[in-house]
Amino acid sequence: MEQMTLTDRKAALAEALAAFWNEGEAGHSHVGGAALSGEGESFTIENPVDGTPLIAVRDAGENVARAAAKAAAEGMAAWAAMPAAGRGRVMQAIAAGVRANIEKLATIEMLVAGKPLRDCRGEALKVAEMFEYYSGWADKLHGETIPVPSTHLNYTLRQPFGVILQITPWNAPLFTGGWQVAPAISMGNAVVLKPSERTPFTSLALAKIAEEAGLPKGVLNVLVGFGHTTGQAALAAPEVKKVVFVGSPMVGRRIAAAAGELLKPSVLELGGKSANIVFPDADLRAAALGAQAAIFAGAGQSCVAGSRLLVHRSIHDEFVELVGKGAAQIRVGDPLADDTEVGPINNRRQYEHVTGMIEDALNSGARLGGPKAPVPEEGFFVPPTVIANATNAMKVAQEEVFGPVVAAIPFDDEDEAIAIANDSRFGLAGAVWTADVGRAHRVAAQVNAGTFWINSYKTINVASPFGGYGESGYGRSSGIDVLREYTQMKSVWVETARVPTTAFGYAPGLGS
Ligand code: NAD
Repeated sequence: MEQMTLTDRKAALAEALAAFWNEGEAGHSHVGGAALSGEGESFTIENPVDGTPLIAVRDAGENVARAAAKAAAEGMAAWAAMPAAGRGRVMQAIAAGVRANIEKLATIEMLVAGKPLRDCRGEALKVAEMFEYYSGWADKLHGETIPVPSTHLNYTLRQPFGVILQITPWNAPLFTGGWQVAPAISMGNAVVLKPSERTPFTSLALAKIAEEAGLPKGVLNVLVGFGHTTGQAALAAPEVKKVVFVGSPMVGRRIAAAAGELLKPSVLELGGKSANIVFPDADLRAAALGAQAAIFAGAGQSCVAGSRLLVHRSIHDEFVELVGKGAAQIRVGDPLADDTEVGPINNRRQYEHVTGMIEDALNSGARLGGPKAPVPEEGFFVPPTVIANATNAMKVAQEEVFGPVVAAIPFDDEDEAIAIANDSRFGLAGAVWTADVGRAHRVAAQVNAGTFWINSYKTINVASPFGGYGESGYGRSSGIDVLREYTQMKSVWVETARVPTTAFGYAPGLGS
């Protein structure tokens, strides 16, 4: 299919945005239920296919960031006071609102983030499921009574944490936003969400949908703009009590340092260099398909991408050929086309990084593991690439590529496979392919990773915990575990004795 022209793309975006905003308001921050124009630098959001200018917006800036934090504190007062089951009902309505808008949300995401439309539809649907899942938790997570060895009744209250700042990346903005917003608000918190400056629209639309569904104004605020200006200003706002960051390790470090200085806790969901381990006894066809999905889906712009393919030496060449042949058949093209399986790299800097990593691997002695799939001549398209005979010491095996590039590394036995898998500063995910049940569980237990698959790859679900080991971050998203990030415990002591005593056995100031 021919690529859409820039004029068509701009028109399609304008039409999709008009479903949510009056003219001139798209791209404004969403603060306390209103569209607020940015006060910072103007910048251009680019067409992810080739970097041509798509739409101009303005960085929110310090004042707007502060206003968002204030609006969140006000919004939270009403929200946290609402009966928990009522919050759950609003969240069900939000889920219904997302379901009703899947096509519009997916179109915006496709045009701005550059992912194939069918992937964007799938991600929007998952966001609806996130609100459904956490709507159920709203009234089910509560404190306990603890049988303390004294005359006291001791119980705990699980309370909202406060205003949460959430900073998210460009690779799956709606998905990542929903992933953090749903559990946070289910526990009675309010949110200031700062999506990537490259991809703010679906997060803004989510806030509109949520308010139409009954979410009180101020509970979800969305800031348009840069991290180092708007993001940092929001972090410094006194109303913000915690920051949840999803993004690169480099920025994660900065956020954790800035939050630490303010004694605000942080949760970090960072990058990965996940090992996908294939033993000779595996169903090699299934493993090859799994290896392709692990790295090429989303053009490899996925934190859990299986970017290191550890293959037993006895099958290395045969297996690499299988994966390489499959890679050459992947349909790479305009994200708009229904049959596109892999779209472009989101932006020029990232495109240059990905192509540079391929070049570096080939210059370091690795070779290409198969023919290249045809890609459109114009634009940030990278053919799905298998790098054969890589070593774990190579840059392509140690650094995040965040592109459709997998480094195949041979190993000789189980211990070596585990050692190579763990020879990484990251620990986000991993997988093993084998018919040996014992081995599958041994490997799963020993690889340092927050998520691990056996004879599978990339399935994640809102009901299951997700997060990193090592430099992939700390804290957990999704499942029940994330609810602990979004609440804090209070221990309440009630004296029940007829003659009150104190813990010290005397009453200070009254004599004893
Ligand atoms: P990035 O770190 O460059 O940006 C992420 C966010 O941080 C953006 O909103 C950006 O504006 C903001 N930011 C940048 N500098 C900042 C600063 N000084 N202070 C405050 N905020 C700042 O990441 P990216 O390039 O947008 O996304 C790709 C990265 O995200 C990859 O490393 C990928 O692995 C990671 N990621 C992780 C997960 C996960 O759950 N572990 C999920 C998706 C993506």
